[in-house]
Parts: sequence; C-alpha cells; structure tokens
Amino acid sequence: MDAHVDVAEFVQLRRDIHRHPELAFEEHRTSEIVAQSLIRWGYQVTRGLGGTGVVAQLKKGSGNKKLGLRADMDALPIHEQTGLPHASLHAGVMHACGHDGHTAMLLAAAKQLAESGSFNGTLNLIFQPAEEGFGGAKKMMEDGLFVRFPCDAIFAMHNMPGFKPGQLLFREGATMASSENITITLHGKGGHGAMPHIAADPVVAGASIVMALQTVVSRNVAPLQMAVITVGSFKAGQANNVIPQTATLELSVRSLDRGVRLLLNQRIEALAQAQAQSYGLRAEVTFKGGYPVLVNTPQETAFATQIALDMLGPQRVVTQTDPLTGSEDFAFMLEAVPGSYLFIGNGDASTGGHGACMVHNPGYDFDDNNIAVGSAYWVRLTRRYLS
Ligand SMILES: [Zn+2]
Ligand SMILES: [Zn+2]
Repeated sequence: MDAHVDVAEFVQLRRDIHRHPELAFEEHRTSEIVAQSLIRWGYQVTRGLGGTGVVAQLKKGSGNKKLGLRADMDALPIHEQTGLPHASLHAGVMHACGHDGHTAMLLAAAKQLAESGSFNGTLNLIFQPAEEGFGGAKKMMEDGLFVRFPCDAIFAMHNMPGFKPGQLLFREGATMASSENITITLHGKGGHGAMPHIAADPVVAGASIVMALQTVVSRNVAPLQMAVITVGSFKAGQANNVIPQTATLELSVRSLDRGVRLLLNQRIEALAQAQAQSYGLRAEVTFKGGYPVLVNTPQETAFATQIALDMLGPQRVVTQTDPLTGSEDFAFMLEAVPGSYLFIGNGDASTGGHGACMVHNPGYDFDDNNIAVGSAYWVRLTRRYLS
C-alpha cells in the first residue's frame, strides 16, 4: 500500500524554509524546525553533529538492519529573482539548489513512517549542514556520525532541472565528479622590469605552468577517462616595470575516477615543482580539500532503482543516467557506507517555469509536486529495506 502523506503541510513547510534561507553552518532556524518536528513525531533526536547537523533515529520491531537517509539544509549566497510569494526574505541568500525541498521531502516521509509506517529495524535520518562547498557531510562524519549511528546502507536524493517532475534517475558507479581546489604559489625574486637577469620572474614561470598543466589531461590521463584542469585565477604584480616577488594560481580540478584524481594531484604537484625549479623559483602547492568522486554501489543502486520501477513504472524511471561534472559532498558518506545518490526531475522545457531553471540560478525554485513523490519513495524504500 502506498504511503499517504499530508502534502499540503509539507508544501507550507518547504515554502517557510524557502523564505528563511540560511548559509552553510548557519542553519540554526532550519535545524530547529527539523529537530522539533522529529521530536514531536517520536524520534530520538541528536543535534550538534557538524555544528547544525541533526540525526533522528527511530527503531521499530526487532530487526537489526540499519538504514540511513540524508537531506541537506543549506542555501546559497545568491539574490533571489523569482518574484514568487514565498521568495527569500533575506537579501543575497537563497535556496537556489532545492535543499529546502530535500528537507521537506524527508520530513514528510519521517512523519509518515513514525505514524503509520511499519518497518523492522533502525532508521537514521541525517539532516546535514553546508553541502555547498563546505563539506558538512565530512564534518558530521568527523563528529562520529557513522560510529554513533551505524548504517548498513545510505541513500540521498537531489532534484534535477531538465527532467520532468517526479521522474526518478539512477546511476551505478561514478556519478558526480571529484572537485579539488589547488593553489600554486610561486616564490621568485622581484626586481626592476628593465633588469630581468638579476630577478627570478614568477610571471614567466606561472605562464609556463598554466600551459604545461594542460598536458596532464592530454598526456597523462588515459584517453577514455575524463579530467578537467581549469586555472581560474592567475594573480601577479601591480606595475608594468616591476617584476613581482610572487605569483598565485588557483586551480579547479575534476575527475570521475578515484585513481585519476590521485594521478592528477600527483602530476600537478610534480609538474609545478619541476617547472618552478627550472626557472630558478620555488613552488608551494596547497591542496585545499575538495570533494571525492561520488560512487554509487551496484547492489544498493539496483535496490533503489527497483523501488522506483515498482512505484512509478519504467516510463518515469531513468536507469543509467549520464554522470555529472558537478560535485556533491554525499560522496564522503559513500566512501564510508554503501549506498546510492539518486535524482528527481524538477521540470523541463515542456513544464517550464522556475522548476526548469537550472540550480544555482536566481530564477530557480524547487517543484512542490515532488514532495508527494519524493516522500512516498522514501517511505517505500524504508519499508522494503527494513522489512
Ligand atoms: Zn548546489
Ligand atoms: Zn544541491
């Protein structure tokens, strides 16, 4: 029997969270709403993991299987331009990635599972802060997430513009790219622009490194693997007649394979060091900690896909969607626990409107129709996994 969720209540809740967006690690109001709701429905609630993170546990029956479902709560530093009645009340902050919707979908399922959902085992609901670039997932894990709340499998769902609302998409294996933030600082010897022979010029060395870095993709990474090295920032000097002391390069590096990620890091470091040395300079390479490749495990992905097929039929399920070059910190959780990260369509050209607009755009909005489908899916998955 399908779960019946009081959708209207959670549409209102989603819009309330949307009106009050909070940036990474500042999700105080949101996590308060999440925690209080879950306490009211009878969950054992633990707060403070990763700062504003919330874990809610519910045990039913005598089964020893343990399931984890995760939603993210943070908003983005974007000024909303949807003009909607429930638009952000905070200038420059906006739920432009639909995390308000992810939170509402999981809460709707939580209520249903507490009140009438029969299952047999332990359900751990994970509401994490700071998905957008600050690795809230990792912070919760550093605070003992899976030690205190062990899970046999974990699942998460993200909305996806470009697909019809309510359509579910799955992919086994590498699904979202790793993202590495690397800074290369070149320490040279400043001097007069007219006397380069008694200086060590970091601009010339930096220009050479920018070009050489592209050979890592074309000459070191296997042709059938994907990799991106973008030098998004190259800063050096102030005046035309002064050779600066230092130059700084900021890199964004992506891959869809854990081995390739390692290779890229090693080659970038080695190449920067050797090139700098050849110009008589010193390179300092700093890895600022990005996100790993998100890898969906086969067994859990097949399980999650089957739930969708049973619920929606094959015409509303995509079984092996393309990988994305974007990143997602649920990848950290999937390095520790088997599981799957799936997508729910948020609107396409045929439906139009704010839901078809790409995430991270000021015109984007989560499609509230997804709350019914998404929460019913979580309820079904939980009952089946903890059966
Ligand atoms: Zn995002
Ligand atoms: Zn997101």
